[in-house]
Amino acid sequence: MEFKMRIKLSVYIIFLTIFSCGQEKIMTKMVPLIRVPVLNDSMMIANIYNSSLENGQSYQMLDYLSNKIGGRQSGSPMAAAAVEWARQELIKFGFDSVYLQPVMVPHWVRGSIEKAKLFNTHFGEMDLSVCALGGSIGTDELGLMGNIIEVKSFEDLKNLGEKNIKGKVVFYNRRFDPKEISTFVGYGKAGNQRGQGAIEAAKYGAIGVIVRSLTPEIDDYPHTGYVGYDEKITKIPAIAISTLDAEFLSKTLLADATIKINITLSAKWFPNVLSYNVIGENFGSEDQKIILVSGHLDAWDTGSGAHDDGAGCVQAIESLRLLKINNYKSKHRLRVTLYMDEEYGGTGSFAYADSAKKNQETHIAALESDAGGLTVRGFSIESDLKNVAKVQAWSNLFEPYGIHSIEQGFSGEDIVALKDQGPVLIGLLPDGQRYFNYHHTPKDIFSEVNQRELELGAAAFASLIYLIDSKGL
Ligand SMILES: [Zn+2]
Repeated sequence: MEFKMRIKLSVYIIFLTIFSCGQEKIMTKMVPLIRVPVLNDSMMIANIYNSSLENGQSYQMLDYLSNKIGGRQSGSPMAAAAVEWARQELIKFGFDSVYLQPVMVPHWVRGSIEKAKLFNTHFGEMDLSVCALGGSIGTDELGLMGNIIEVKSFEDLKNLGEKNIKGKVVFYNRRFDPKEISTFVGYGKAGNQRGQGAIEAAKYGAIGVIVRSLTPEIDDYPHTGYVGYDEKITKIPAIAISTLDAEFLSKTLLADATIKINITLSAKWFPNVLSYNVIGENFGSEDQKIILVSGHLDAWDTGSGAHDDGAGCVQAIESLRLLKINNYKSKHRLRVTLYMDEEYGGTGSFAYADSAKKNQETHIAALESDAGGLTVRGFSIESDLKNVAKVQAWSNLFEPYGIHSIEQGFSGEDIVALKDQGPVLIGLLPDGQRYFNYHHTPKDIFSEVNQRELELGAAAFASLIYLIDSKGL
């Protein structure tokens, strides 16, 4: 289907190109003026897509970042290696300026021990598929031991009260709602168990929390992710459990509420570390206002951060490289920023936004790819409806490439830090049905990323940047 549409488009372009040779006067009379920019835009976008699909660099970049560097939590030696790798790539591609922006980032180390063992009179001992949530405090060598109480919500905690919770391990088992067509909505609805679960359970005297992995899939992979603490409330260890073992644990608790669990974690916090956002830019020919394209360089250590967010980083770099190799001279300053530390709360994005404010930089648009390297369906625009309509006016240019959804919505975790500075914020919107199978798990590896899907995303962003730069927003 897509191939046929591309052929049709090519025939249309060839026809108009031949027709225009030596017939300029007739063209001016016969073709309404409005057709000319549309034709030029179509050709430019076709060239961008062709370059990405024929000679793209995003897949090779992702191969290196995922397979040679791998998981790269902020503060880790791998994150430092990723910073240097990204800097070298930007230099290699001939950006006008490449520099590092310093930022102090959190440094947490998972450690080699993360175990949860069930003790039951019927089956004896049993290991569960778990991992420490990112940022969890550790336990001593013997670990914590206690009974388990299952809840679905913070409301359940309130109803049970301290008398039923104190001294126990709270098991959050609210399902990722499979009825939500947008998996990001499903993720959002289940997310507070992980983000605030330890804080809420500790208020009632819990000694630890087990959180059902945030995925609609039933499998045996625990999904890590940041767990929040409140300095005024006792910090308790927090683990994620695979959905398969969450179902098992729930059934086991129904049969025997006296079951005990032993959780041992060697996770540890270290002092903050100096790290960097990596920035490359090409100067504009008319105006130094900025069009930003971005992703986040840090990634959880359980996988190799191929989808989250290696894909976004290489698509951001590639989008500007594609414009450059197509000899596009931008009016505005085009900048790529690879943020450090999205996963612990965005210290990199705040440092970037602070610096932009201090230096009185103006961003007209900020783009982010942080929803996986999957087939692009559209753009999600965080701005007023007037700006959304301006981007929607380019829909016909994107339709031949399978992009049919240009809607108002959430943009990206890092670029929202720029929101009060007024740019139009735009997130790349890939198909999300499989994303949470990989998200924050050992499955988030290079072999799970499809080359064409990745390249189509880079081309979509390059095309959008071209339109914003040449037409304005
Ligand atoms: Zn991410």
